[in-house]
Parts: sequence; structure tokens; C-alpha cells
Amino acid sequence: MKNQKALVVFSGGQDSTTCLFWAMKQFKEVEAVTFKYGQRHEEEIHVARRICEDLSIKHHEIDMSVLSQLTSNALTRHDQTIETDEKGVPSTFVDGRNLLFLSFAAVIGRTINAKHIVTGVCETDFSGYPDCRDQFIKSLNVTLNLSMDDQFVIHTPLMWLTKEETWELADQLHAFDYVRNNTLTCYNGIVADGCGTCPACELRKNGLDAYMARKGVM
Ligand SMILES: [Zn+2]
Repeated sequence: MKNQKALVVFSGGQDSTTCLFWAMKQFKEVEAVTFKYGQRHEEEIHVARRICEDLSIKHHEIDMSVLSQLTSNALTRHDQTIETDEKGVPSTFVDGRNLLFLSFAAVIGRTINAKHIVTGVCETDFSGYPDCRDQFIKSLNVTLNLSMDDQFVIHTPLMWLTKEETWELADQLHAFDYVRNNTLTCYNGIVADGCGTCPACELRKNGLDAYMARKGVM
């Protein structure tokens, strides 16, 4: 894959930034795309932009604000709080988000001649998002290839990793400190270790603590 080009679906968070470093190691050329859909914090876009500048990655920003017209939830609407419904699905869930984002990414991939699409979706820390499942990604890959008569490959380097193992991967890629200090995961828009209390911070911190503890005893 060393002589090929990849497009990373990029939010500026821990997962997609780790994917960006992974892709930079795997591919000759890497570009990133950030979808703007009325995120709770504009800061997310700024962080994504800054990271791409730091790493000299060509950054595409695509306006997907239409999502907030289609659906009403805590990620696109500031007046909603983040909570979990009776089925365990968080109110941050946007129906079909990965279906839409990956489809758009493939169209961009076609335009920039990138056959490889990289996404940080993960089934292990499954948060009740059906379009993060491996089966869905494989199915969509087939559909995208049929729809454009092309041979895209969707890569999901984090699919079977725990949060702890995602930190380990960043470390293996010599990006541990960078990911820890420059990415935005927090729902309250605070970079690096975040607010420490929202569900996203908790998940990130639990993984980080587990990895640090394991590394400490090695
Ligand atoms: Zn937080």
C-alpha cells in the first residue's frame, strides 16, 4: 500500500487522529476529510484543521449541516443534553451518520484518486451505533464499489481494539504524546484530557489509565 493514496475520515478526536498517524505509516499519500454538521463545538473543526496543518495533511472540509435538518439529537442540537435511552443508545447518535460520511468520502476519494478510505469506527467499545459495526462497513464497501464500479478498500484499524489498545497503537506509531495533547474527544469542547466528567472523557480516561498502568508495570 506504500505507493497508494488514502483518505482519512477525520474529526480531530483521539480515534481518527490515531487513524491519521496509522495511514501516514501505511500509505504514500494521505489526505483527510472533516464533515461539518453543526457539531456542538466549532472547536472540533478548528482542532481538525490545526492537526492537519501540524502534520502537513491536505484537509477537506465538507458542509453537512443538512444533517441537523434531518435529525434532532444532542450532537447537532445545542439545546439537547447528552443522555442514554432505554436501549443504551446515547442521544449523541446520528442515524446513518457513517453511511453518509463514508459514502461522501468515497466520492471525494474518487475525485482525488484515493482508493483507500480510513475510518476510526470501532465495534469493541460499541456504543449502540449500528453503523460502526464491522458487518455494516464490509457491506457498504461492496455497495460503494458497485455504485461507482471501483475498487475502494475501507480500512478500520480500530475496529477490534479497546480504548486501551487504541492508546497502545498511538504509542506504537510514536504519536502517544501528540494524540494525548492535541486531540478533542470531550463533549464540552476541551482539548487534550478534557473536562474529565462527560461520557466521552470518561471513556478516553479509562482507556488511558488502563494503558498507563499496564505500561508502568512492563
Ligand atoms: Zn469532557
